[in-house]
Amino acid sequence: MQPLRVYSVVPKLPEKLKPLWDLAYNLLFSWNDDIVSLFAQVDRRLWRECYGNPVCFLNRLPQKTLETLAEDDFYVERLADLRQSLATYQSRKTASIPFPDRDGTPVVAYFSLEYGISQCLPIYSGGLGILAGDHLKSASDLCVPLVGIGLCYQQGFFRQYLTPDGWQQERYPIYDFEQMPLTLCKDAAGERLLVQVDLKGERVTAQIWKAQVGRVSLYLMDTNVPENQPATRQLTNRLYGGDLETRVRQEYLLGIGGIRALEVLGLKPKVIHMNEGHSAFAGLERIANFMAKHQLSFEAAMELVASSSIFTTHTPVPAGNDRFPPELIQAYFEDYAKRLGLAFKVLLALGREDPRNDTEHFCMTVLALKLSRFNNGVSQLHGVVSRKMWNRVWTQYPMEDVPIGAITNGVHVPTWVAQDLATLYDRYLGANWREDPDTSRVFSQAHLISDAELWRTHERLRERLVGYVRERLRDQLLSRGAKRQELLNAEEVLDPQALTIGFARRFATYKRANMLLQDKERLIRIITNAERPVQFVFAGKAHPHDNEGKRLIQDLVQLCTSAQCRYNLVFIEDYDMEIASYLVQGVDVWLNTPRRPLEACGTSGMKAMCNGVLNFSTLDGWWAEAWKPDNSVGWAIGMGEEYEDAGYQDFVESQTLYNILENEIIPTFYERGHGNLPRNWIRKMKASICELTPVYNSHRMVEDYARIAYGPALENYNRLTRDECAAAKDLASWRMEMMTKWGNLDIRHVRAGDPEQLHVGDGVRVTAEVQLNGIRPQDVEVQIYSGRLDYEGKFAQRDTLSMRPVETTADGWHLYMGEIQPTEAGRFGFTVRVLPHHPLLLDSHSLGLIRWAHND
Ligand SMILES: *Cc1c(COP(=O)(O)O)cnc(C)c1O
Repeated sequence: MQPLRVYSVVPKLPEKLKPLWDLAYNLLFSWNDDIVSLFAQVDRRLWRECYGNPVCFLNRLPQKTLETLAEDDFYVERLADLRQSLATYQSRKTASIPFPDRDGTPVVAYFSLEYGISQCLPIYSGGLGILAGDHLKSASDLCVPLVGIGLCYQQGFFRQYLTPDGWQQERYPIYDFEQMPLTLCKDAAGERLLVQVDLKGERVTAQIWKAQVGRVSLYLMDTNVPENQPATRQLTNRLYGGDLETRVRQEYLLGIGGIRALEVLGLKPKVIHMNEGHSAFAGLERIANFMAKHQLSFEAAMELVASSSIFTTHTPVPAGNDRFPPELIQAYFEDYAKRLGLAFKVLLALGREDPRNDTEHFCMTVLALKLSRFNNGVSQLHGVVSRKMWNRVWTQYPMEDVPIGAITNGVHVPTWVAQDLATLYDRYLGANWREDPDTSRVFSQAHLISDAELWRTHERLRERLVGYVRERLRDQLLSRGAKRQELLNAEEVLDPQALTIGFARRFATYKRANMLLQDKERLIRIITNAERPVQFVFAGKAHPHDNEGKRLIQDLVQLCTSAQCRYNLVFIEDYDMEIASYLVQGVDVWLNTPRRPLEACGTSGMKAMCNGVLNFSTLDGWWAEAWKPDNSVGWAIGMGEEYEDAGYQDFVESQTLYNILENEIIPTFYERGHGNLPRNWIRKMKASICELTPVYNSHRMVEDYARIAYGPALENYNRLTRDECAAAKDLASWRMEMMTKWGNLDIRHVRAGDPEQLHVGDGVRVTAEVQLNGIRPQDVEVQIYSGRLDYEGKFAQRDTLSMRPVETTADGWHLYMGEIQPTEAGRFGFTVRVLPHHPLLLDSHSLGLIRWAHND
């Protein structure tokens, strides 16, 4: 039986408390502890029950409590103050970092399939989502004009619980958006704003929810509306749920629906940022729009779209890069190709590394790489790995030239730093440390914090973690129907004084959660040492279909519950942002053991870092660039070797892990001096805060994106669209001309002075003759490509240098000249190449045109 009409019933908030709604509906509370305290202090138990969700909390407070509260002058005053701070925060419009657009309207649309903003908005699964959330928060703090686009999942990501013998089970609670900090987007007449997409001939409608993240609006599409067929209503049920087809449908909605949502909302961002390839269809929709509105050819529109798009790739693990069978893409895009004026095969080729291979699957990462002129990996090492991984998209280019750069991820410090520690930061780093973009200056002052204060704060946080773990464990046992004695035991786990190590992450194979268990005897000896005990807290989910990962969890849990280990090893179920917070704030060491080079970046270690927790990790992802060889900011497992034999690697690295634990970490932690302080440990904590936090935080990251990606992309957009897209049209016809004439271009007579021996710093003059064959000299760049050679005689490293035209030969070739200087000793070589050049062409590689010199 369906009701005839449906109402939302909300409590009657006394007038004086009305501002609580404003605070509840801005996710600023997820990084503002004062706002959280204002809610939580009213009823701590209810606050916990509501999972830190202020909307649900207000809706559930008894009317009587509200009325009493309204009479509390102190409370009402505090509320007014915080409401005023929110207003002040919201009112600032100009970016606090250099950014070309100043009027505050959204310039950048950020697309992501998941967002981790608060534990109470469960539309994330892990690192990718948290990063997206941190990106929005820093954009908000720095006033970068950005909006987010995503999907609103009725059931979110799965929740984990374990059977008594440690096997992971999944459950999917159904969330009520009305009870969340979300508002439904409506037009002036009060009608819902709707987005429509065509999925295999079916008209699919989505409504839009808005989450306000400080100054940044995040729009989330939801297909659970009466306009849709029952099956389609469930399209946005689960994050990463369903089969391959569900994924195509969700990504269609995210990319194509997302661009339409922006239009429906009246927003006109000029730049789009695709956070992972999931949203790459957005590029196609933008192309279609430009073609329709400005009568552009596909090529001109594509150039314009790519020049104003940013793409960030997030994983070298193949399963993390969506690939769809051609038939599946055909079902959804055959008609769409017509809108683009393309044969369907040409559209397919946009998602293929080898456009001529008819069996190759359609890869979202490849599509995104082709539809963006700014591509990046998420750590320096991941940049290198991505260039190698995607070299086939640019077959004629050496790996070093693959146009994928790197911007290392960061975390939003105000979100992740413990409240107690933040209070110390308030005193030592200046009152504005949360929003100050000058992170180097801010965090270098952490040296000033008194050792004793820092240590006492840290110890308090460890104690708080221990309390939290005991409570969670008890709840876990209760829900499993455990015996009374077991419940009592749960009260005894962990020692608030002992060296505590955290290990929490997805149980994906490459993360190697089992490394610690390679030698269980040795591990048990380490943790049960009576004088210098060590304890571990674990958490993490395995993918629902990943039985290997589930077995790892089971193995670990069985050790955790064994008689020998149950006080020192604890596994907490259902890893999420709340558990992550307690852990990264309360442990002493954060352990990470990914198999290099599969961890693109990793951010949980950064959350630990800004809390003075020391990292202990293999040299992969961010740690490969952050770790210092003198161990002053933490420890490395191995030296960044990559092995052929995974089993052997696990063995070697686990031995190193135990050795460092026994010989360095445990002694440093337990070596206490005056005032019972571990001075050497504290020195490392401070070094980690002072030296690493300025770099590995999301203010620095967003500033990097703004400076080297968004700013230039915005300029490209403005330049290419001026005068009815005149420049875009020019660029496209220039491109066509290059494509047709390039075949006849040639290089001959490459000559260089040939001394017997070359000294470092000696110049070598290089000349070459180029047959341009109708191409104008300004349309090409002739380069010397030079560098040190490896043992196989290939370029180990390279530099490029432009040559200048000096004369024309009698038979019409152009003579070019340049001079190179080897800067280090060793085997050295060079060659010459020609690339297309146009002042508006961001990336000379994007045409796939290049001519290398050959032997005469
Ligand atoms: C930070 C975080 C992650 C990402 O951690 P990694 O470093 O990538 O392992 C995953 N899940 C949650 C809940 C987090 O808070």
